[in-house]
Amino acid sequence: MSSTVPVHPGLFTEDDPPRLLGGRCHACGHHHFPRHDICPYCASADTEGAELSGVGRLWAWTAVTHPPPGYRGETPYGFGVVELPEGLRIVTRLTEPDPGRLRADQPMHLVTDPLHTDEEGRRVVTYAFAPDETPSPGETLSPEETVSR
Ligand SMILES: [Zn+2]
Repeated sequence: MSSTVPVHPGLFTEDDPPRLLGGRCHACGHHHFPRHDICPYCASADTEGAELSGVGRLWAWTAVTHPPPGYRGETPYGFGVVELPEGLRIVTRLTEPDPGRLRADQPMHLVTDPLHTDEEGRRVVTYAFAPDETPSPGETLSPEETVSR
């Protein structure tokens, strides 16, 4: 039996597809992530929890090639910033570790990504953004498809 646990509670739903759990401020209208009781933009306490869009566009990216302190997953991994339709930018793990396969403004969607297995044998997952268009390994467009468009 395998079970899955989030790396930190309250960051994302475990639905398929998952959603990030942010907040929205009634005073200024801004969304934020992660959820705060106090709006990070205007300091109002009039905020509520909000599920954020599961899609966005790539704004900045890099590859992490050396594990940060305490990190037990695989390297290299992608890391970057994705802008959501709500207008906020999410600092996030990316499923694509090769920076050369990513481009600015590329459509991305939210997924859960396994990090490591904990002491109890549970799969620890975090949120990550995946590119919409990158073919799976072994999958390529046929020449007909690439010229006929
Ligand atoms: Zn506000």
